[in-house]
Amino acid sequence: MNTPYTPGIAPQRLSADELYENFTDLHAPLDHHEAAVAADRCYFCHDAPCITACPTDIDIPLFIRQIATGTPEAAAKTIFDMNILGGMCARVCPTEDLCEEACVRELAEGKPVEIGRLQRYATDTVMAQGKMPFVRAAPTGHKVAVVGAGPAGLSCAHRLAVLGHDVVVFDAMPKPGGLNEYGIAAYKTTEDFAAREADWLCSIGGIEIRNEMVLGRDIALDDLSRDFSAVFLGMGLGGVNALSVEGDEKDGVKDAVSFIRDLRQADDLASLPVGRNVVVIGGGMTAVDAAVQSKLLGAQQVTIAYRRGRDAMSASRYEQDLAASMGVNLLFNAQPKAIHGNGAAAEIELEFTSTDGGALAGTGETIRLAADQVFRAIGQTLTSDSGLDLNGRKIAVTDAGRTSREGVWAGGDCASGGDDLTVTAVAEGRDAAIDIHATLMGGK
Ligand SMILES: Cc1cc2nc3c(=O)[nH]c(=O)nc-3n(C[C@H](O)[C@H](O)[C@H](O)COP(=O)(O)OP(=O)(O)OC[C@H]3O[C@@H](n4cnc5c(N)ncnc54)[C@H](O)[C@@H]3O)c2cc1C
Ligand code: SF4
Repeated sequence: MNTPYTPGIAPQRLSADELYENFTDLHAPLDHHEAAVAADRCYFCHDAPCITACPTDIDIPLFIRQIATGTPEAAAKTIFDMNILGGMCARVCPTEDLCEEACVRELAEGKPVEIGRLQRYATDTVMAQGKMPFVRAAPTGHKVAVVGAGPAGLSCAHRLAVLGHDVVVFDAMPKPGGLNEYGIAAYKTTEDFAAREADWLCSIGGIEIRNEMVLGRDIALDDLSRDFSAVFLGMGLGGVNALSVEGDEKDGVKDAVSFIRDLRQADDLASLPVGRNVVVIGGGMTAVDAAVQSKLLGAQQVTIAYRRGRDAMSASRYEQDLAASMGVNLLFNAQPKAIHGNGAAAEIELEFTSTDGGALAGTGETIRLAADQVFRAIGQTLTSDSGLDLNGRKIAVTDAGRTSREGVWAGGDCASGGDDLTVTAVAEGRDAAIDIHATLMGGK
């Protein structure tokens, strides 16, 4: 057995008990009584600001009232009507920046109604019963191809299936779920929830998932357009940006997303090697998740280095505070300059930065940190555009996800205009499905 002080990158830094404790649910689920008490705090506002702040427009006061009146099944149906991945969103949504930030009780008292936990209470109740609260409409005779079984693709597939279409989902990975399965922090989605949710969602029927099928390798967009009535692309952002600094090829330098993917798929967390001194480069949720989970695996020192100030970080203040509370150091206004070490990373050299009129510049002052493991978390990129028009580095879409090619829609992280959140991907998949339906049935 190793310890947090064992040099280099090593597995088994903590005992099985410590790892179990570290990776349990971040927020314990509410029991019946706690849910009733939490629901009782809602004012059931007219023109509720929490609804406007929800990217999927869930009728929050209605579902909270349904919980308050002892009908969590009805509450779940209210949620699933708008967001079929309401169970995952209840676990991973940055509610502190969305519905709970907008809640009038947050404004008045600094303590919002616990919308996320109440949503989880309702959705878990129905999923535990194994019930699918939707039935399919009569078959339309249309077959739609969905590329990507992440939140956008699954949400689109479910809505299409409900509307009576048959759906084939092609996904590159061995399991469905996208980043729900391979990316979200392990302590936010425990007990194989992503896989259980995908199974439950597909229990509507009419959805066939074909795994390990890669668009651009095993299938082409031309073939899908020919063989299906419509195509929805929800393939996310599979590529990761390079650091492009001296020494970035050294052993121990890795992209954060693949580290998290390995962690999410590990049968035994103790077998996962982690550095004694870990430095994560980036300022988003990926950076926070890589840093926090390195710490939870037993790394002794973990630092997030971000090139701008705290307020510019895309990870919310809540996520930043979570990282700090786990013992992660946050270093602002510092950008990587070089990684030093003989073959393997041993130190990272960072240059301090200043911002002048929005432009970032190095100050010339540097700092060196011990780093046997360096994670890159500086953004992800589209891996294939399939010849579609782009808007910036994403597939250009208008209206409800229409791309430059007739009969092809896109949504979620791969499409322009979103904010790279699970809940936004769900909303865009749902809206594209409704638009596909209207188009196929001759409405548009
Ligand atoms: C580490 C990490 C942590 C995150 N944490 C949070 C969080 O806590 N809360 C939150 O709201 N958001 C979080 N996000 C963002 C969120 O996960 C994404 O916004 C969301 O998953 C986007 O959904 P999507 O369906 O568009 O794409 P994805 O979830 O990326 O799914 C895309 C799917 O397409 C498949 N695919 C890709 N290319 C191809 C191809 N060529 N052919 C076939 N299939 C393909 C992939 O295998 C994948 O299954 C996080 C992201 C990361 C990277
Ligand atoms: S804003 Fe807060 S109090 Fe008002 S309906 Fe929404 S959750 Fe309830």
